[in-house]
Amino acid sequence: MGLFLRVLSLSILFLTAGCGLLDSNEEMKTVTKQPTSTVDPQDKSSIDFSKEISITAIGDVLIHDRVYEAAETSEGYNFMPMMEQTESYLESSTITIANQETMIGGEELGLSGYPAFNSPVEIGNNLKELGVDVVTLANNHTLDKGTRGINNAIEHWEKIDMKYTGAYQSKEASEEILVHDTKEGIRVAILSYTYGTNGVKAPDGKSYVVNRIELDKMAQDIEKAKEQSDAVLLSLHFGDQYEPYPNQFQKDVVQFAADRGVTAVIGHHPHVLQPLEWVEGKDGHKMLTAYSLGNFFSGQESFEKRVGGILTFNLKMDNSDDNVEVVKPRFKVTYVTSAREHGYEVIPMDDFPSLKEEYEAKKKHLAQWMPELEFME
Ligand SMILES: [Zn+2]
Repeated sequence: MGLFLRVLSLSILFLTAGCGLLDSNEEMKTVTKQPTSTVDPQDKSSIDFSKEISITAIGDVLIHDRVYEAAETSEGYNFMPMMEQTESYLESSTITIANQETMIGGEELGLSGYPAFNSPVEIGNNLKELGVDVVTLANNHTLDKGTRGINNAIEHWEKIDMKYTGAYQSKEASEEILVHDTKEGIRVAILSYTYGTNGVKAPDGKSYVVNRIELDKMAQDIEKAKEQSDAVLLSLHFGDQYEPYPNQFQKDVVQFAADRGVTAVIGHHPHVLQPLEWVEGKDGHKMLTAYSLGNFFSGQESFEKRVGGILTFNLKMDNSDDNVEVVKPRFKVTYVTSAREHGYEVIPMDDFPSLKEEYEAKKKHLAQWMPELEFME
């Protein structure tokens, strides 16, 4: 009996150790078969014990009055017909992040467009339907409707079980790091900061309601995030509006992030696309940097502001040392047209034969510092 128990517990130990590397029974079966079929047990290089997930990010979701007016139906607002052509890119990723620039304070606070935005809650529901898992809320428009706008928005995000970061209802909530656990076993922290809030101040003693780009606080948060996760993504709302290249402030903050071991920066605010780049940190790791993803969905009307994009990359974790690296960055260029049935529609830009030349120029612009950037087409 004693021996039986010992054998049994040893087998359990063995099985448990195996489970650490694999995340489902199905995969376990496949691996146990491998030595007799395709994998030569002598050749360790052919066994890849790393795991991988994908991250997708989109830029500004900026709901002007002309956009929500076009989305109005007899039963509230419906933005789905305006965005659904991007669904296959957003829903297929392990984690999809959108920058929700306008607060969804809802009709109770009076809907409004530029300059002090307040959006219908349905845009939140529709982003969720499209496959968005996390919204970043630290933007220059976060305080457009004061803390009531933030509170209403957060209550709705919580109601529909959308994760959010960058704006908060309480100090305690602002001190918690958003960590997205994945079933693959890679934990991803997502932090969000803005350069400012259009001169609107947070109420006295409530600076926690929105995260600002303050290097001391960011350094502390990044440290905390690193302790609690395997990869840290930093959403930064910064830069000069309508400028095709990052300014010195963007470059400095990005270098600061790289030096502290951030995995990737997802930037926005200029409303136009800026080139992507690998930025090397002090420790030699290469941080993926998207300085500006442009507008994903807005009512801004000049050509450059209609162009945006969907950035996807993989996080690959090496099980031998838990190191995570960014691999396979790829991009889908999008274009918001107002010439179709639904008023404003986000469409893959390569679907417009008449914009072929402009599309090729955008690809060149985006990849000029990262020639290996792939385009999904
Ligand atoms: Zn902005």
